[in-house]
Amino acid sequence: MALKLFNTLTRSVQEFTPLDPAGRKVGLYCCGPTVYDFAHIGNWRTFVFADLVRRTLEFSGYDVQHVMNITDVEDKIIKRVRENKTTLREFTGRFEAAFLDDLKTLSCREPHVKPRATEHIPEIIAIIEKLVARGVAYKVHDGSVYFSIEKYRGCGCCYGQLLKLNLDEMRAGERVAADEYEKESVADFALWKAYVPEDGDVTWDSPWGKGRPGWHIECSAMSIKALGETFDLHLGGEDLKFPHHEDEIAQSEGATGKPFVKYWLHGAHLLVEGKKMSKSLGNFFTLRDLLAKGFTGREVRYLLLTAHYRETFNFTLDGLHGAKTALARIDECVGKLRELGKGALPRTQAAPPASPASLVAQFSFALADDLNISASWGAVFEWVRETNKRIADNSLTATDAADALIAWEKVDAVLGVGTKTETEVPADILALAEARATAKQARDFKRADAIRDELKAKGWVIEDTPKGIKLKKI
Ligand code: AMP
Ligand code: ZN
Repeated sequence: MALKLFNTLTRSVQEFTPLDPAGRKVGLYCCGPTVYDFAHIGNWRTFVFADLVRRTLEFSGYDVQHVMNITDVEDKIIKRVRENKTTLREFTGRFEAAFLDDLKTLSCREPHVKPRATEHIPEIIAIIEKLVARGVAYKVHDGSVYFSIEKYRGCGCCYGQLLKLNLDEMRAGERVAADEYEKESVADFALWKAYVPEDGDVTWDSPWGKGRPGWHIECSAMSIKALGETFDLHLGGEDLKFPHHEDEIAQSEGATGKPFVKYWLHGAHLLVEGKKMSKSLGNFFTLRDLLAKGFTGREVRYLLLTAHYRETFNFTLDGLHGAKTALARIDECVGKLRELGKGALPRTQAAPPASPASLVAQFSFALADDLNISASWGAVFEWVRETNKRIADNSLTATDAADALIAWEKVDAVLGVGTKTETEVPADILALAEARATAKQARDFKRADAIRDELKAKGWVIEDTPKGIKLKKI
């Protein structure tokens, strides 16, 4: 089944066909993090969604070029650089590294290109120059440059492609900064912001004087540089539709005269315990906060992947406990298959044939339907149930088990939850386990029980199995 996705541009679910005439190459851009703090769990919902889109495209056989920018110059960043008395690069470098670490912890595939805004100032200036030359951007007295919505529309271009906008009310509620009073219209937005003393060292030369770029123009410049003037997919959280993405379209199409993006995909927001995340409500979690509570990146990824990307998702700590249980069911089943299939070769080296009822066929069918993730997980858990049943009644051969493992690996290439790797047992825990075995041999059960309790207090359970002792992390 062909892949279908909801395109915000057409407000409809559409079959995905790449711009590449050969039908293979796909360009995907996702607005990246603003690196002034650790990313929160809401941000992570959007980045895990982008990873799901990329993996789905790769699973469907496309050759994806994934670009995710790093917004490393912006108002909040400049404010924090000033407060922390540090340099822009030192400050943003720290949070960029943390972001990339977290991305790995959540098993997101690393984007192929990660452009930084500060390294694209010439490209940004070149686009602004084009817009000025075309008469849709204007310089004001202080050296700032604005985009004129009215002049852009006057050229027959459409502003408001992603959502219906009431142009009279637009941005009326937005605070007009003291340095923006020279705008011709309240609807206009900054492409270049003239230098003010609070910017400190964060400034570049331009044809309009010293200053720095606006946020929206950064994404136009970086996406066009990496993927060309027209590319396939552009992603982000739903809050970015307006003004960020609408402005990206206006700047890009205003400068190139070509359609900017074929498919716009937006992920819905994440709430925590039913509420918008905020530090004052105490429901603001970074990934690191959750790891400190003993959860793993794998559990967080699983939970973020349980809801459809266009539905608001309610994140709860209970949900994370549920993720632990669900993953344990998969791990147990895959573990048994590994045991059973040890040494056996699958039927075909490449992959077992996908019968209509097979895991891979049902999973791909669900995924192709605008990433219907609940049906995709449904296929996985039905397979777990069926496999467990077959193992229990001894009707699964070693070859069947090897085939089943290949099917799971194919599906997991999209889900990315993997299977639990055997945890390395630390030396002190091993020593305690050995001491317990010695005590048992000497029939000193009191001491053996005391050691078992000590292990438990350290977070390990010990199991006596017919094959020997097993240590498990609680
Ligand atoms: P930022 O670092 O603020 O530029 O945001 C990075 C990404 O996270 C953007 O695509 C936002 O739309 C997205 N985002 C921000 N808050 C949430 C949330 N509560 N739920 C889902 N995505 C979010
Ligand atoms: Zn962007």
